[in-house]
Amino acid sequence: MSADPDCIFCKIAAGRIPAKKAYEDEELLVFHDIHPWAPVHVLVIPKQHIESLDAVGPEHHALLGRMMALAPRLMRELGVVNGYRTVVNVGRDGGQEVPHLHLHVMGGPRPWARG
Ligand code: AMP
Ligand code: ZN
Repeated sequence: MSADPDCIFCKIAAGRIPAKKAYEDEELLVFHDIHPWAPVHVLVIPKQHIESLDAVGPEHHALLGRMMALAPRLMRELGVVNGYRTVVNVGRDGGQEVPHLHLHVMGGPRPWARG
């Protein structure tokens, strides 16, 4: 599986940096955001290094579907009952800070810290 040795999310996927995991399978990892915007804020990442949504090709379509489809299950398991947001930041002007594709999934009672 492709990995970037300098990428922080690749390091988390490889277990070289600790993270509070919420879900894991062969292709995907979900962990809690270190600076949460909401009472529940997790990041869904592919284990393989994909720089951003902009780098996605047809070979990744099933993977993207799996990432998005995981959100309702995660929110249910984490006790979110009244809705949630899914966000993908893309590139510099899109506010992407970590250049490894990730889906933010945020929920829990308002008010939130951000978002
Ligand atoms: P983005 O701005 O969309 O690239 O979001 C990157 C997110 O990754 C931010 O919300 C950060 O708080 C989060 N983040 C960065 N480093 C870590 C880490 N080591 N563990 C958990 N979340 C992180
Ligand atoms: Zn990476």
